[in-house]
Amino acid sequence: MDARAIIAAIRDRGVIGQADVSWFANGLADGRVSDAQAGAFAMAVLLNGLGDAGRTALTLAMRDSGETLDWSLDGPVIDKHSTGGIGDCVSLILAPALAVCGAYVPMISGRGLGHTGGTLDKLEAVPGLRTGLSGVAFRDVVARVGCAIVSASAQMAPADRRLYAIRDVTATVESLDLITASILSKKLAAGLEGLVLDVKLGSGAFMKQHEAARALASALVETANAAGCRTSAVISDMSQPLAPAAGNALEVAEAMRVLCGAPGGRLAELTAVLGGMALRDAGLADSREAGQEAIRKALSDGRAAECFGRMVAAMGGSARFVETWERVLPEAPVIRDVPAPRAGYVTAMNGEAMGLAVIGLGGGRQVETDVVDPAVGLDQVVPLGTKVEAGTPVLRIHAARQDQADRAAAALSRAIEIGDSAPDLPPLVHEFVQERLG
Ligand code: URA
Repeated sequence: MDARAIIAAIRDRGVIGQADVSWFANGLADGRVSDAQAGAFAMAVLLNGLGDAGRTALTLAMRDSGETLDWSLDGPVIDKHSTGGIGDCVSLILAPALAVCGAYVPMISGRGLGHTGGTLDKLEAVPGLRTGLSGVAFRDVVARVGCAIVSASAQMAPADRRLYAIRDVTATVESLDLITASILSKKLAAGLEGLVLDVKLGSGAFMKQHEAARALASALVETANAAGCRTSAVISDMSQPLAPAAGNALEVAEAMRVLCGAPGGRLAELTAVLGGMALRDAGLADSREAGQEAIRKALSDGRAAECFGRMVAAMGGSARFVETWERVLPEAPVIRDVPAPRAGYVTAMNGEAMGLAVIGLGGGRQVETDVVDPAVGLDQVVPLGTKVEAGTPVLRIHAARQDQADRAAAALSRAIEIGDSAPDLPPLVHEFVQERLG
């Protein structure tokens, strides 16, 4: 086989078979395909697409380009994936909640991408905790605790690792087919039987238009199901941070409040919706509503918190984290309010600008080698629709230095709009996306 012929077939909208795509994915993993060929392949796919069958073939080939896990456990092996947003710490709550409802959750997560936060960076705000577990340790924690949230090993989906880096510098990240294959190759390599996807829509998401979010959700759902992993998705709202906080330790604190049974809020509600879908699809609940109820109960009776505590201890943190988190999470030395510039209603938030402000404070990376400050970020973000007086705080900044806090305050005052009348509030869940039948 020949990389040139495969690229030419995609360029000319010809037919490419599973064998061609597998050859290309293996060539990405073992170096037979050059960087130039990978870049040309990515651009051809971005411009012409692969079609449903080609996208599934690429996903499977990238999954099989490295190590794949299989599990023989006494419950379904499932996971959740979010396309990324602000204040989205659902994974920290949902993984243990699903585990206590009878599932096993081997969650291979990522770091912050663009303006969004990453689950690994959040979890590593827990003192002592390491997310880079060996394969043996990962299996052991999942089997003993029911869940583990870890980083991907270099052996999993190496074709994606290489292609992702090339897409990043060839303006081809945006391809629907390549995003789908990239996300799912890693999830499928983890040996999942079921997956629930949270596709974010709004100012703090990568997808800012409903049609684009729907197209991504449908591609992900169709491809994952075609690959044998029972999958459904929601398109959820990201026109404001999901939790009232953004930043690593600050989001762990929000997750701990929900895990310890604090009432309500959008974070708890979306966690229950996603959990309900996952439990229904895994056969652990009769309906999404029954699954939601099971998740809520796992949160209110303390079992999810206890499971989270066991996961923290198994991954190197303190066995008493659940009792001591308010004292042991890192805290920033400078805390300042951002006041509303005038009276009115909070009508809109620029989520991307808020995420970038957190990165500017040191809570994420500008370049890959940056060290993240777990303590910095935002909290007490008022929800959309809140009526404020001039000077009332709309959020609080946690910073390492006063000058950084002041710079963030200027950017954040521009990111929050105050209008004269109460806005129409977007729903938390815009749409449920199920597999197309037939
Ligand atoms: N996350 C991934 O893993 N890959 C993409 O292409 C986009 C988001």
